[in-house]
Amino acid sequence: MQQNSALDREALWLADYAMHSRDSAGREHLEMPHPYRGPFQRDRDRIVHSSAYRRLAYKTQVFTGSKGDYHRTRLTHTLEVASIARTVGRTLRLNEDLIEALALLHDVGHPPFGHAGETVLDHCMHDYGGFSHNSHALRLVTTLETRYPNFPGLNLSREVLAGQQARSAKQFASQNRQSLLEIQVVDAADSIAYDSHDVDDSLELGLLDSEQLLKIPLWRDAADRVHRRYTALDDEQFRRAVIHQLIEILVSDLVETTRARLEAGQITTRQDVEECGYVLVDPSDEIAEQKLQLEDFLFEQVYRHPVVLAERSIAGEALEEMFQRFRSDPESMPAFFVCRLESDGVPRTVCDYLAGMTDRHALEEHRRHVSSSA
Ligand code: MG
Repeated sequence: MQQNSALDREALWLADYAMHSRDSAGREHLEMPHPYRGPFQRDRDRIVHSSAYRRLAYKTQVFTGSKGDYHRTRLTHTLEVASIARTVGRTLRLNEDLIEALALLHDVGHPPFGHAGETVLDHCMHDYGGFSHNSHALRLVTTLETRYPNFPGLNLSREVLAGQQARSAKQFASQNRQSLLEIQVVDAADSIAYDSHDVDDSLELGLLDSEQLLKIPLWRDAADRVHRRYTALDDEQFRRAVIHQLIEILVSDLVETTRARLEAGQITTRQDVEECGYVLVDPSDEIAEQKLQLEDFLFEQVYRHPVVLAERSIAGEALEEMFQRFRSDPESMPAFFVCRLESDGVPRTVCDYLAGMTDRHALEEHRRHVSSSA
């Protein structure tokens, strides 16, 4: 009865091109519908209750914990993505429950130490299938999370798995059939979130100054709008107002451009979305170009900043040493992983163990198993 009312609400509110819960292709392991939660609400809850999700609190986004407590962690990045994606999804009358599940899932496969950790694990796994955080997220939710008695993984709906699969296969540019709009929204929101919060964090940490940023048209536009609106802000208030304005510009452009594309392409159903041959949820050409300029700037000034690079190489070295250490003595891993050695082989099991660690746990384990025995 209550499940029906949730479905009725969707029927009333969602656009025809949205993913409706009643049309879900279901789950690999058959389950009875929940009395009052729809399938994508249930997916979201399962992700929130997973240990991989909780560990995002102690995983690096760009800056490690040694830089204080202001900057984003992988968890707060994830929440910003979910927040932006839900705003866009609601405005376009898409399925917010599905969007939230996809957003909360999108980075759970990240190893400790951000992309530095990913590069090192991929290198260590070169001869054994490599490592990518996107496919590791799928491995976590289909195999490694063991929270339910009746099945391995979280038994998420096929739509949520397809969303993560699309990220993993990086299919957006080349695939013939386009992903659901909900999946496209999360991808666009991810990029808006990191562009804006990486600028904010870098300014706070003193890796950038706002004078340098004025060369970047997107920042200058946001700064001009703040100047027109406020007259007496101190530096910190100004910076935060510009960040808010930046998000506003990017989100508004995304919504307006997507709406225009839906209209121009006469997209009214999910089939239209799949078959239209291009990504619908994308910024305008002008903003896409400006975003790229900002991203190039961040790449040069922040991601390749000597302080960031030095931390990365220390973290990467620690992870590589641990990979070799556990590979030569796999029985010293926790029992859960020792039990998997036979089915998954030593390299993949060691990789799974390391990928699940938070930054601080990885450093503790490194001290315990590597530094102390050196
Ligand atoms: Mg992300």
